Order: sequence, then structure tokens, then C-alpha cells
Amino acid sequence: MTTSQGACVQSPIDIAEFEAILLARKQDLLEILALRNANIKDLHASSLTDDSDVISAQIQGELDSLIIEKYTLELAEIEASLQKIIDNTYGICEMCDDTISKERLTIKPHARFCITCRELYEKNQPKS
Ligand SMILES: [Zn+2]
Repeated sequence: MTTSQGACVQSPIDIAEFEAILLARKQDLLEILALRNANIKDLHASSLTDDSDVISAQIQGELDSLIIEKYTLELAEIEASLQKIIDNTYGICEMCDDTISKERLTIKPHARFCITCRELYEKNQPKS
């Protein structure tokens, strides 16, 4: 039984398994964010006098900000997925209400859309 054609039976996914993955990832992200935020604080606290130090500190600071932004976004998605587990809607596509395949959730446990909707969504995103 490998095809999901026809029957509208949801393929059983082990929610507890995905919850554990999500919680572990959340913990990682919180640690990364705490570290990066500490870096930025250090940067602001240190009084740099040399111009090249100031520039490299600025570059590092911008990099940290970008990384923080990226991980904060991922963290929010993970929080939303954990909330879905509580709400019993985990693994359901936000756009078409279809079940997201287990294969896709294994690759991206905080996926919001099924693969079809993901492609549609990405097509409609402005490329930066
Ligand atoms: Zn969908």
C-alpha cells in the first residue's frame, strides 16, 4: 500500500514522532538565536575605535541580523506547527485542506502546504 490514490483515508503519520522533531528543532533555534542576539549585544557594547574593526563589526552585525531574521521565521513556523498538533490539524495543507504526505513532512516537519500548493505559492512569490 504505497499509493494514496482514490480513497480518502488519511495516511497515518506518527504525530508524536514529528512533535519530537519539531521540539528538538525549536530548542536548537532558540539556542542559535540566543547566541546571535548575544553577539549583537556584544557588538553594541564594545567601543570600537579602529575603522576596519568598525566595518567588520558592521558586516558581522548585518549577517547576524539576517540569520536572526531567517531563524525567527522558522521558529514561528515551528510554533505554528506545534499549535496545529494541539489543534489536531497537523499535517493538513493550509490551502486545500488535503493531507501533506509523510515524505514531505519528513523533509520539512513544519510544512504549511502540500507539495502542489507549495509550488503554486512559490510561483506567486516575488523573486528577490
Ligand atoms: Zn494543498
